[in-house]
Amino acid sequence: MMTSPAAALLKGAPVAKRIKAQVSDVVASLDTPPCLLNVLVGHNEAALSYLGSIDKLAARLGIDSRRVELPADVDTEDLCRAVTEQGADPSVHALMVQFPLPKGLDRARVAACIPPAKDVDGATIESLGAVLAGQRRHTAPATAAAVVELLASEPACDPEGKDVVIIGRSLVVGRPLGVMLGGPGSTANGTPTICHRRSPDVPAKARRADVLVVAAGVRGLVTREWVKPGAVVVDVGTHPIETEDGWTLVGDVDPTVAEVAGWFTPVPGGVGPVTNAVLMRHVAAAAAPTRFESAW
Ligand code: NAD
Repeated sequence: MMTSPAAALLKGAPVAKRIKAQVSDVVASLDTPPCLLNVLVGHNEAALSYLGSIDKLAARLGIDSRRVELPADVDTEDLCRAVTEQGADPSVHALMVQFPLPKGLDRARVAACIPPAKDVDGATIESLGAVLAGQRRHTAPATAAAVVELLASEPACDPEGKDVVIIGRSLVVGRPLGVMLGGPGSTANGTPTICHRRSPDVPAKARRADVLVVAAGVRGLVTREWVKPGAVVVDVGTHPIETEDGWTLVGDVDPTVAEVAGWFTPVPGGVGPVTNAVLMRHVAAAAAPTRFESAW
């Protein structure tokens, strides 16, 4: 028997468009364009492709996007020195280091060299601490903030009073998102449960979710059997695949989920564009903090 998708698409484009319009208005009114500096270590195709899209978006919004590239065999000491030097440059408003770093480099030490006010992607302990304390700053992890924005954009996806299950506990997505969707300072007021690789019976937990956010980094992990009928499913996962028509992305959620979910985010075209837009808002807010309301 043929089944047709029941779910509505929770698309990123309209949300990203609204955020970008706001950023572009603020940037146009500034005397000096905001500047984002990216530090890239070694040759990493995924990071290069990501930075290519960030550079393009930044240029469209009037943001100056610069890059410092260091060889893969740089040591932690020299990398820390470079990040500290760039961070001290007053013309740099925002600084991102592309993680993961090549093996042998100490991520925590490197992240600690990013000035907290210039941290636009939740890399520092200060940014994560602010999230935990319910301070809605423009330094939170951009992907987690993007999920909050997406859910807030559609009244039917509002997490308030709902059971939220997040699959994945990384510091860039799952863990901060749990706080942002239900902790102190949260405007979402959901009730999150965070699962990880060692959690018992993740499918059963997922099936109880009114809002299911999947950020496991496992292609097609969540199938229709994991989803409560009518639930909102947000797919954070991104996996590049080659098709006859070239490269595209697929997520952590199997497309069959559309047969049972009420709403779901497409990959590509869901969380990704909103993440990039939120990142640009964080950069603009680093340059002009008084021009933006509190974040997430
Ligand atoms: P990560 O590898 O750091 O963390 C994955 C988390 O998922 C871990 O906590 C792990 O315990 C958990 N996990 C893995 N398999 C699981 C399972 N079977 N059951 C329960 N938990 C499981 O990954 P990350 O950096 O958080 O990224 C997750 C995914 O999101 C990746 O596909 C990444 O490419 C994507 N991502 C997308 C964006 C975006 O803007 N769309 C941004 C960041 C990351």
